[in-house]
Amino acid sequence: MSDAPTDRRGGSEATSARDPSAVTAALAARQGVPALALSVTDVVERGAGMRQVTVADPRLAEAPWHPGQDLTISLPATGGRSVTRRYSIRRLDRDRATADLLASAHGSGPGARWVAAVRPGDRLEAIGPRGKIWATPDASWHLFVGDETYLAASFAMAESLPGGATATVVLEVGPDVGEEPCEAVAELRGPYRVVRNPVGAGEPGVELIDALERLDLPPGSGDGHAYLGGEAKLVAALRAWLIGHGWQAEAISAKAYWRSDKANQDHGEPERD
Ligand SMILES: Cc1cc2nc3c(=O)[nH]c(=O)nc-3n(C[C@H](O)[C@H](O)[C@H](O)COP(=O)(O)OP(=O)(O)OC[C@H]3O[C@@H](n4cnc5c(N)ncnc54)[C@H](O)[C@@H]3O)c2cc1C
Repeated sequence: MSDAPTDRRGGSEATSARDPSAVTAALAARQGVPALALSVTDVVERGAGMRQVTVADPRLAEAPWHPGQDLTISLPATGGRSVTRRYSIRRLDRDRATADLLASAHGSGPGARWVAAVRPGDRLEAIGPRGKIWATPDASWHLFVGDETYLAASFAMAESLPGGATATVVLEVGPDVGEEPCEAVAELRGPYRVVRNPVGAGEPGVELIDALERLDLPPGSGDGHAYLGGEAKLVAALRAWLIGHGWQAEAISAKAYWRSDKANQDHGEPERD
């Protein structure tokens, strides 16, 4: 039996209303988010092992989404087991019921293998959008800092800010990661790109901290909020730098996305120290 097309708006991204598996449905119910049966509709090379992957599911037309949240995708891993890996939503197109992900293919884990091999027409099980960090309306200026795995989340959050807010974006990226436009309504400083040291070379975050020191940031957090994402030691170093410069802990939303010394756990989170 073939899937019935359910693209109610008649867009070109015809998607099908498959039901996610019972395993995915149970995982989604535990997290209190939608279960998704995704179709890959487009894959675009973005340089330095980064690919933009567009996925579709009719449920994305209405699923609650805060920019900054991700889709958590089930992927095959060694030994026949299944793991989940999280990829932030760069943009959600409600009319087409699609989400764009910017996924990095570094290393040789289940996520990297998927990113390297993904093709239009592939099917995936996922849950989301999910995640606890998004741009707070309580701040008037916002600082986004991280590595290229934070590109999708930080740009989506910056674009969600209202006019009158200020957003500064500083990201450490590989040398040939393609330019990504950030269409913020808020006053945008940057996005500043800092070319990454090879992983393991030098202290984590040194180049980013150097870039922050050269920016004319207001002293302390004041009515600002900082959002940090990327490699675990990088995020820890950035957070320590901010605290050392008078930032209140409550004004910092930090999230480790991956670890340079260890694979993420099967449920997608990096291990804590
Ligand atoms: C909430 C959340 C949102 C995320 N959003 C994004 C996103 O938008 N885009 C994105 O690309 N990633 C994102 N990530 C990170 C992504 O889920 C991890 O990088 C994930 O570990 C990759 O899985 P993997 O199976 O390839 O590698 P793993 O199995 O975790 O690790 C295998 C090996 O690869 C290395 N490795 C893993 N990731 C990288 C990397 N980026 N660079 C170099 N080496 C690496 C590890 O150090 C390890 O040695 C997010 C993570 C979280 C928790």
